[in-house]
Amino acid sequence: MASIRHLIRGTLRTAIYYTGLAQTLSGYKGAQARILVYHNIAPVEDDFMRGLDMTVSPDVFEDHARYLSENFRVVSLRQMLGELRSGNLPERTLVITFDDGYRDLYHYALPILREHNLPATIFLNTAVVGATDKLWPNKIAYVANKLGASRVAYQARRQWGKRLHLPYGANIPEIIWALNERVHPREIHDFVDALCRDHHLTLPDENSSRIYLDWAEITSMRSAGFEFGNHTHDHVNLALLSEQEQEEQIVKAKEIISQHLGLHEMPFAYPFGQEEHFTVVTRQIIKQSGHNSALEAIAGPVFAEDSPYALKRIDIRETPPSLFVTNVHGVSIKHALSSLKNRGNPTKSSARLTALVGTFGSLVTWLSCGI
Ligand SMILES: [Zn+2]
Repeated sequence: MASIRHLIRGTLRTAIYYTGLAQTLSGYKGAQARILVYHNIAPVEDDFMRGLDMTVSPDVFEDHARYLSENFRVVSLRQMLGELRSGNLPERTLVITFDDGYRDLYHYALPILREHNLPATIFLNTAVVGATDKLWPNKIAYVANKLGASRVAYQARRQWGKRLHLPYGANIPEIIWALNERVHPREIHDFVDALCRDHHLTLPDENSSRIYLDWAEITSMRSAGFEFGNHTHDHVNLALLSEQEQEEQIVKAKEIISQHLGLHEMPFAYPFGQEEHFTVVTRQIIKQSGHNSALEAIAGPVFAEDSPYALKRIDIRETPPSLFVTNVHGVSIKHALSSLKNRGNPTKSSARLTALVGTFGSLVTWLSCGI
């Protein structure tokens, strides 16, 4: 039943995409702006990235860039924050951001963004800028790709037992999510070291294995108009840290970025970005240490009355175009279905809505024949 429901939702999403109804059915009515969050843009994934579902291929990103430039007013985060503060934030404003500062952005995202004249902000983890060392989620991906996710999950269960909510058959993101929820980042690094030792595995640390931007690439991107912000020093779940540890993670990264880029004020993006990954104290530290905003990864648009320290974002992964478009417009399938039910009220889009009903009906009929 679940797969039939999945098929029907996918079909409806495709119908919404091809009939151009995403804007009409947007669940973000009244929203002024949207902030998108990407991670990596690259044609291939190495063992540090494979399985994380964080890479969008350059061809797909090119399609995204074209769609965004044709359908939105894409501005820099700095400009959007100024407009939000002045209370004059035009509708259909959109901001593009990237988290974690992957090196591939320099080679693959930069040329596409420049071609379409799109500004963007990149959030950096200062511990790995220019380094061959890796953030802990990339290390977990590496050992899971080399040893198998089930072995890593088994070892994690042996070490932390019921402390972890780790389902059997967990994939790489589920392992990362489970560890991130309960285990201090220091313990996770020790866990990876022990796994490597036990299985005679060495994490590559030569320069060719560098996966994050270095300061020369960052400076060059900055000269091309890109903005940079703070994503903590080590990419940690701040909610698991003491107040002093949180302050170290946030302030240290801010100082390093300030020192290299001469910035006094900058935006901040919470690592992992859900409500359970920061506290009231985190927000206070961010406000008091020279950050002009704090971006979450909680899904949603930006409304004119939103605080710059609680900005939601829309997480973008590599998906079919119909899912990208419905995500950006916040189309809820439930909302779309109720619009179809209430179509007795004619609107400008009634012709397209009729086309959608027709397309959806034929696709469902086709699917039912195939089942
Ligand atoms: Zn991140």
